[in-house]
Amino acid sequence: MYRLDPDQTALLQRIESLADEKIAPHAAAVDAESRFPLESVAALAEAGLLGLTVPTEHGGMGQGMRVAVAALDAIGQRCASTGMVYLMHLCGVACYAARPESAGEALKAAARGEHLSTLAWSEKGSRSHFWAPMSQARSVAGGVTLSAQKSWVTSAGVANGYVISARSPESSGPMDTQLFLVDRNAAGMTVAGAWNSLGMRGNASAPMSLQDVTIPTAQALSDPGQGFPRMMEILPWFSLGNAGISTGIAEAAVRSTTDHVTGKGFEHLGTKLADLPNLRERLARMRIQTDKTRAHLSMVLDKLESGAPDAMLGVLSAKASASGAAKEVTDLAMETCGGAAFSRHLSVERNFRDARAASVMAPTTDVLHDFIGKALCGMPLF
Ligand SMILES: Cc1cc2nc3c(=O)[nH]c(=O)nc-3n(C[C@H](O)[C@H](O)[C@H](O)COP(=O)(O)OP(=O)(O)OC[C@H]3O[C@@H](n4cnc5c(N)ncnc54)[C@H](O)[C@@H]3O)c2cc1C
Repeated sequence: MYRLDPDQTALLQRIESLADEKIAPHAAAVDAESRFPLESVAALAEAGLLGLTVPTEHGGMGQGMRVAVAALDAIGQRCASTGMVYLMHLCGVACYAARPESAGEALKAAARGEHLSTLAWSEKGSRSHFWAPMSQARSVAGGVTLSAQKSWVTSAGVANGYVISARSPESSGPMDTQLFLVDRNAAGMTVAGAWNSLGMRGNASAPMSLQDVTIPTAQALSDPGQGFPRMMEILPWFSLGNAGISTGIAEAAVRSTTDHVTGKGFEHLGTKLADLPNLRERLARMRIQTDKTRAHLSMVLDKLESGAPDAMLGVLSAKASASGAAKEVTDLAMETCGGAAFSRHLSVERNFRDARAASVMAPTTDVLHDFIGKALCGMPLF
């Protein structure tokens, strides 16, 4: 449904095989033990896929958002936590690619499979309003120093590079911001808590603390005051990628539910669960929702690629639509599979928990709906 060309299709098939062989086998343990999917990320790195979207001049594959979304859908079907780690990496890479003069070495390292990236934008003070950090960079000779309380950072402590937001040194307000690249080993930056969540349990999306971290000017990923516009440039990567993962979670639930209802039955009656029309009806609704979501996502990719005037509206709606669909589809899967799902015998309960993350990840579904409504009414979003 993503309408990939023959080369992109071959690449996606390679990613699907890798996900089947090297990611899916670890998904249940990653979730049960709430541990970072090291094996899966190593497999992506070894296959050169940390460089999927790194421009070719920096040694990467130079792929765009369409292939990235298809890859995230495929990975999300097998292990949503790995999908989320990969998504945040691709968002980090998009920030690097927008400022290669500062992040050229990180781009090359990602292409070599030696650098995992992430975004550290949300803060304790401004919560899901990631566009308005409370922390403020202070000018020092040769750069800035920064203290900040970042509330959720996927791949915290594991990622090599952190795209950090803060108010600019001379900031005139919460949206006068700047982005920086901070290395994992930077003095003063620490993981400040554990990650023990309902779903996406392998993400390691823990809080991080920065205490007087010195950041050289050469590691600025935007000019002062230009953090917000850069965040808005990265938003399509996050929003559509997030939608890809939600779609993948829904797809996984459709498949597992189909397997369950066609595989199990009532021995005393000699019938299958699939002989019950109400279960088939639920399954049909799950299939329709999942297909609609993927079609919507594909339409938004078309709009972005063609520069359609309402492309940004699509960017907002794709995440809201896909996260809602994944919640609905996995809820139907839980009902359809009955006690077998509730008692955690089936992977649909992991899908159900993982699906709940997207709507509370910023921009949250509430905020997206508000933005979409404002845009439709011709009102400013901020
Ligand atoms: C799995 C996961 C991974 C994450 N990874 C990262 C990461 O890598 N980097 C990063 O920076 N952040 C990350 N986050 C943080 C995420 O993007 C949000 O900032 C966070 O989930 C917000 O939680 P909160 O409790 O602060 O929400 P709150 O802001 O307290 O929101 C509470 C409720 O209020 C609603 N609400 C808030 N504002 C409005 C509004 N203006 N209008 C209407 N309703 C509103 C929300 O929709 C929500 O229902 C991650 C979060 C999760 C769950």
